[in-house]
Amino acid sequence: MRIVTVVGARPQFIKAAAGSRALRREHEEVLVHTGQHFDDNMSAIFFREMDIPRPDYNLGVSGGTHAQMTARMLTGIEEVLQKEQPDALLVYGDTNSTLAAALAAAKLRIPVLHVEAGNRLGTLDNPEEINRKLTDHCSTLLFCATEDARQKLVREGLGDRAYCVGNIMYDSFLHFANRPWDHPNIVDLDGAPVAVPETYYYMTCHRQENTFSDEPLSQILLAMNSLDAPVIYPVHPRNRERAQRICRQKGFGNIVLTQPVGYADSVQLTCHAKKIVTDSGGLQCEAFYAGVQCVFVLDYPVWPETMVGNRNQLARADCADILQKLSAQQVIDPSYQPFGDGHAAERICEILRRDFSTGRLNA
Ligand code: UDP
Repeated sequence: MRIVTVVGARPQFIKAAAGSRALRREHEEVLVHTGQHFDDNMSAIFFREMDIPRPDYNLGVSGGTHAQMTARMLTGIEEVLQKEQPDALLVYGDTNSTLAAALAAAKLRIPVLHVEAGNRLGTLDNPEEINRKLTDHCSTLLFCATEDARQKLVREGLGDRAYCVGNIMYDSFLHFANRPWDHPNIVDLDGAPVAVPETYYYMTCHRQENTFSDEPLSQILLAMNSLDAPVIYPVHPRNRERAQRICRQKGFGNIVLTQPVGYADSVQLTCHAKKIVTDSGGLQCEAFYAGVQCVFVLDYPVWPETMVGNRNQLARADCADILQKLSAQQVIDPSYQPFGDGHAAERICEILRRDFSTGRLNA
């Protein structure tokens, strides 16, 4: 099969690392980077470190409003699809790149394969919810990370094309968690090396809901500053200026702001952290895989499967609430494995092989 894969943002590069490795064993893949994330430490570092094939196209689309970005991607992807004439288009997750690619392909009657389908937060206040829903509804095959996600698709009438394959991020996580951490490459915002202390908390925070103004981010940082060990916080470019200014103005000396780190460092920071505070969907799953307790700062769960035994608790962007959740003890049941076995990419390939040979992909 000839497959065009479209990626554009950090979590998609991480998923594509596992996806492309498996796909290219038996298919021809054309990789398109929309350009949504473009800084070296938000994009190129993942391609280098994770052996992701060099994109065949880079559309250079970033910035602007959601509509402007999606519209420019839609036009660029349509041109690529018309030129490449693939048998299918593959997309990951829920970004504007995902939606633009799915729409462009569906209108050209090219089958869409959506990996990480079926996740629902239940609110359109979350900007990615629209991308998730629309992409699922114009896809031909839906690959879900969990059984819960598949059930959500069944309830939306999409059960006949939905498969639970496990979380493809778990494939990538296992690949890197099992390596030695001998060359951490973590630098502060001025580019000076950061020595990772023996005991530390790992934090990320970049969602629009927590960073659109000073108040929520200040509350989160206030909580982190009062902890009993330093906090390593790689800052997303989106809210770097705000985080730096708040920490400086309030004298939050317990928080070490760093530039975004590569995936190997993020996995190892996760595995060795005392606890994790984040608003990232991906990082809360990685905390779960690593058995490190997590507090997820948002009003609604993203991966409800992780919210058992205090392993991942929701907190409001409120200092007292975050500290209270961090003080709880977690209980781990090792037999509970909702994200599969780390072979999601292989399972996707098996289903593709079967559905392509039986003509189901063109149905
Ligand atoms: N991550 C990373 N470097 C960082 C921060 C996060 O490699 O400096 C990884 C993290 O381990 C997780 C993914 O990026 O796998 C999460 O991406 P992001 O927070 O951008 O997206 P979301 O999870 O919210 O979709």
